[in-house]
Amino acid sequence: MDDRIFFKPAHQLFAMLSGREISSVELAKAVIERTKQVDREIGAFLSFDEAKTLKEAEESDARHKSGRPLSPLDGIPVGLKDLIAEKGQPLTCGSRILENFISPYDATVTERLRAAGCVLWGRLNMDEFAMGSSNENSAYKPVSNPWNLSCVPGGSSGGSAASVAAGETILALGSDTGGSIRQPAAFCGICGLKPSYGAVSRYGLVAFASSLDQIGPMGRSVEDIAALFQVIVGVDRKDSSSFPFSLPDYSAELPKFKSLKKLGVPVEYFQDGLDPEIREALERAIEFYRSAGHEIVEVSLEMTKYVMPAYYVIATAEASSNLARFDGVRYGLRSKAAKNAIDIFFKTREEGFGEEVKRRIMLGTYVLSSENFDSYYRRAQKVRTLIRNDFMRVFDEVNAIIAPVTPTVAFELGKKKFDPLQMYLCDIFTVQANMVGACAISIPCGMSSGNLPIGMQILGKPFKEHEILSLAYEFESAHGYKDLHPNI
Ligand code: GLN
Repeated sequence: MDDRIFFKPAHQLFAMLSGREISSVELAKAVIERTKQVDREIGAFLSFDEAKTLKEAEESDARHKSGRPLSPLDGIPVGLKDLIAEKGQPLTCGSRILENFISPYDATVTERLRAAGCVLWGRLNMDEFAMGSSNENSAYKPVSNPWNLSCVPGGSSGGSAASVAAGETILALGSDTGGSIRQPAAFCGICGLKPSYGAVSRYGLVAFASSLDQIGPMGRSVEDIAALFQVIVGVDRKDSSSFPFSLPDYSAELPKFKSLKKLGVPVEYFQDGLDPEIREALERAIEFYRSAGHEIVEVSLEMTKYVMPAYYVIATAEASSNLARFDGVRYGLRSKAAKNAIDIFFKTREEGFGEEVKRRIMLGTYVLSSENFDSYYRRAQKVRTLIRNDFMRVFDEVNAIIAPVTPTVAFELGKKKFDPLQMYLCDIFTVQANMVGACAISIPCGMSSGNLPIGMQILGKPFKEHEILSLAYEFESAHGYKDLHPNI
């Protein structure tokens, strides 16, 4: 086990902070130093504000000194994906169009992190506007996977996943529209939770596809992400899609996995195209659950083949509408070449958006245009309802679904960069949860022969995060993956 402080779990660090064994300033300095040491190679951070972070750590120390920490995460560093607003800090979304934009306000999740005493550390790299699966769509720099620097960390929350895996932060927040928390978590060997739609406020999250987006926690253990989820979850009157439900004590629920008897394994997720090493790792995990006393049943998600096409109609349609606000007038970049008002709009968008973002805007505008609306957008919405019905039918039968996160382990940088279709197929197992509003978690469940992490996905019914966290915890407690760290 690696004993370096930046690899320790949050609950242990909190005990050390409470016992005055270390200070929050020392902890912040440890992750800052670590970042300076490794991030030139990894590229997980787009910016950071050391003085601000140290000031927050000092404030946490004062609370610990007076014996009044605000939460079990008081004093713990948390990095934010660069599309979650933090007042006074850059908010680039990985895009040139927001290059010099400073956020004038805090997202609700950011406010909640502050209210819990978390120390906000750094703005994390991402695919531009969260569109991508490899982080190569960042307008600033790609991110390298800490397990193998020539491989991608996944995306779009690649900076969040890589920074957590490499010990550049203890915890991070990412966002997930079609897999962007779970896929990079799997590639980097960490844990990531995509909450149910409506569980976490989206206020202050720059929108990609509003009916799919959710912010979620990323960390090196299930316990860590349960604690971080507790801080950010809950209804918010600033987000009308946030949903009121009674909140469990997620950490206290972790040992209750025994009550979750039936686990489903979808046949459609274990067909050709799934890397044999991932299949084997999943089969071992399923065997583990069986021998631990769960009943394993084969289930069929018949609509699986329609999930990807429907997603790419709905997500691009919503994106084209959400991104219309970047017009060169209201935020960020304004083209210097523009000669009149119309020019400002066209030239700014031409210069400010990258290729993938433009592709999505064009696709989305096409499917929303009056002559195509019925045959694409309306039809995709109907398909979405069928996908949801299919999913809910399976959940009448089982408590949770066990599935792969990705068809392959992390691939080499550059390998799929110019092949959008191949890139889109990275999300084949993750998009389902977003389309139906369910919760899903990714945790490490193996290592490939090439020493790259393998992830397992556990999907649950909407607002049953405590159940999938608990099942994940059961697996994690019996395996040593959370103590494996990349050798960097
Ligand atoms: N990779 C998917 C996409 O490009 C999902 C992105 C996300 O979840 N933000 O759309």
